[in-house]
Amino acid sequence: MSNQAYTSKKDVVHFISGATHAGSSTRFGDVFNPSTGELARRVALANTNDVNLAVKAAQEAFPKWADTPPLRRARIMFKYLELMNTHRDEIAAIITSEHGKVYTDAQGEVTRGIEVVEYACGIPELLKGDFTEQVSTDIDNWTMRQPLGVVAGITPFNFPVMVPMWMFPMAIACGNTFILKPSPTDPSASILMAELFKEAGLPDGVFNVVQGDKEAVDALIENEHVKALSFVGSTPIANYIYERGAHYGKRVQALGGAKNHMVIMPDADLDKAVDALVGAAYGSAGERCMAISVAVLVGSVGDQIMPELIKRTQTLKVKNGMELDAEMGPIVTEAARQRITGYINEGEKSGAKLLVDGRKASVPGFEKGFWLGGTLFDHVKTDMKIYKEEIFGPVLSCVRVDNFKQSVDLINAHEFGNGVSCFTSDGNTAREFARRIQVGMVGINVPIPVPMAWHGFGGWKKSLFGDVHAYGKEGVRFYTKQKSIMQRWPESISKGNDFIMPTIK
Ligand code: NAD
Repeated sequence: MSNQAYTSKKDVVHFISGATHAGSSTRFGDVFNPSTGELARRVALANTNDVNLAVKAAQEAFPKWADTPPLRRARIMFKYLELMNTHRDEIAAIITSEHGKVYTDAQGEVTRGIEVVEYACGIPELLKGDFTEQVSTDIDNWTMRQPLGVVAGITPFNFPVMVPMWMFPMAIACGNTFILKPSPTDPSASILMAELFKEAGLPDGVFNVVQGDKEAVDALIENEHVKALSFVGSTPIANYIYERGAHYGKRVQALGGAKNHMVIMPDADLDKAVDALVGAAYGSAGERCMAISVAVLVGSVGDQIMPELIKRTQTLKVKNGMELDAEMGPIVTEAARQRITGYINEGEKSGAKLLVDGRKASVPGFEKGFWLGGTLFDHVKTDMKIYKEEIFGPVLSCVRVDNFKQSVDLINAHEFGNGVSCFTSDGNTAREFARRIQVGMVGINVPIPVPMAWHGFGGWKKSLFGDVHAYGKEGVRFYTKQKSIMQRWPESISKGNDFIMPTIK
């Protein structure tokens, strides 16, 4: 299909036990093409019975899958890797048609997801335990990691492929069976990902998809056979999933919202910093959890870069994402567009200086699309709502500070701590920044520091509830539990009872 628009009108349904499944719910959600504003298709919204059916399928598939040697699981992963690469462009076109992000950005999203499959192909090595010979006379002790059982992932609209792929390749490679509950806003790619996994040889029931909303999520939380929940989405829902999941005794990792700052020091290469800032603020219409939404301009930097920043924001190519020269596509839904517009109104009212106003944007031939242009505020203050809250749109707030220390203090005082970036050409400033900043993912002259598949992804503070980050070794830890075994053989057991705490003999 390459960069042909995705046009299927078919309802998006569930994928249970290796086949699409309509479910028994009569509720549906609307899926739009955000560039045209047209209703593209509907998505089934699962009820508790549909969820329980998927959990049962996953439960039945678990014992055999958990017993499958890791090397054999890895061989299926290799085949899946090949199929995902073959279908990368088709999946990217589906993303653009439902999310709106530009096609090349969607291709990049799929590639970043595929990298986790590449990492999961090494699962035999990743699951290797450790062994100590002779911990005491004639006794050996070793540890191994075993899968949890049925695990579930609940994912946001903004990365309908990459974020699920932070989860299910790792969980499945570790020997778990998986249920994905994607965002109902852009659900179609989830089914193609499941079908390709089946084609790769994955046994039925190991990877299932239930489409839905809160009802499906609550059914997953309450189902006793679901042992762990991975969540990525907004902070209030992350908090809810973490608390409810803990109440039901589940292991939970819940990644939340963000307000990512980029500090520009006077010693930075300012041309390169502006290039990076414009891409990181307005790429994917600012609907990235690692988007830069606040620029912290130190000393004279504000006056130096503002004319260029205004020009670049005004001349962004806002277009249908399938046009190959598009730099920014539409907002995902009309409701999101209105929410973001509300923030721009609010920023203006609170006294921030609105230098570029994206509220009137429209795209010829696509008048009904959910458009917003790049929006730029200067002289934003830390008590303003547009500074404190996540806007999740193409709105960049510039804050001016006098020195490096003020920039660090300001960022550390913010309730979110997902990503951050510092542009400087001073090694000591870079080092101090990386050490002092209270944020989970740090870029030095890198605007969006999304860690590679083997490093793990996760923020601090209200950007992550739970102990471990997504994917990488952290992913292996999350999706397995450790067992320690201590062994000796009858020949070496001495006669008689031992009533004391055993120590080394
Ligand atoms: P969202 O929180 O609205 O939805 C996320 C998931 O939760 C969806 O599957 C949705 O169906 C479900 N959900 C929504 N409301 C629910 C409720 N009341 N009860 C139970 N489940 C519910 O998030 P979104 O709008 O889809 O995505 C954008 C948000 O995700 C932003 O806040 C963004 O920062 C965040 N995000 C964070 C990361 C990260 O790594 N920290 C990555 C991507 C996105």
